[in-house]
Amino acid sequence: MVSIHNLHKKFGPLTVLNGLELDIKEQGIIAVLGPNGSGKTTLIKSILGMVVPDKGDIVISGNNIRKRWSYRQEIDYLPQIANFPGNLKVQELITMIKDLRGKPAREAELIEYFKLQPFLDKKLNKLSGGTQQKVNLVLCFMFDSPLIILDEPTSGLDPVAMLQLRKLIQREKEKGKTILITSHIMNFVEEVADRIVFLLEGKIYFDGNVSELKTSTGQDDFEHAIAKLL
Ligand code: ADP
Repeated sequence: MVSIHNLHKKFGPLTVLNGLELDIKEQGIIAVLGPNGSGKTTLIKSILGMVVPDKGDIVISGNNIRKRWSYRQEIDYLPQIANFPGNLKVQELITMIKDLRGKPAREAELIEYFKLQPFLDKKLNKLSGGTQQKVNLVLCFMFDSPLIILDEPTSGLDPVAMLQLRKLIQREKEKGKTILITSHIMNFVEEVADRIVFLLEGKIYFDGNVSELKTSTGQDDFEHAIAKLL
């Protein structure tokens, strides 16, 4: 589905991606981890075509994205900071995004799932951070894209909403989707991730599942295992 070869990106003198290689062939939940500034968002934005790499190839579903941009229809993305106009009502925003995309969507099911009916008529800037994040998640999952990228989806969510998110992404995975996720909440990552990809110094420093990570670092505790990679 996603094949990345020899990806390089510098911002001025700062090397962020330095020959990164990554292949994602499977459905499932893949956590992209790494210290702050290790290039997680730059990698995600490169996959989305929002950052132009200096060198390297990104092939998505057989299309090299330098040559063909329509792949973007197959990916949905939850940015770290969603910047929708705050004076729009939730229903207006959902309708606007559907119209822009021009694709059928299953927003009703997701509105019900997150119990958002009472908020449809409210303006975005009147909602709590957690409710706004649930709206963002509806927008992200409603088109049923095969690849979903979630940058810090847990931010603003209380423990109940976090559990809802976990169940949702596990259900979507069962349907055959590939979900790329970044999160600072390590117990969330440990519970959901089928694969951990750890970025360091512009490359993938570790790539494997949770038990492989624990074995290779000699740590039983997930957070300690991650810390050991540094
Ligand atoms: P992460 O998501 O792992 O925290 P980022 O990909 O956001 O890392 O950033 C990696 C590094 O690149 C950081 O030092 C950040 O300040 C820098 N950076 C990211 N985007 C830009 C940009 N558009 N211009 C200049 N520097 C950037």
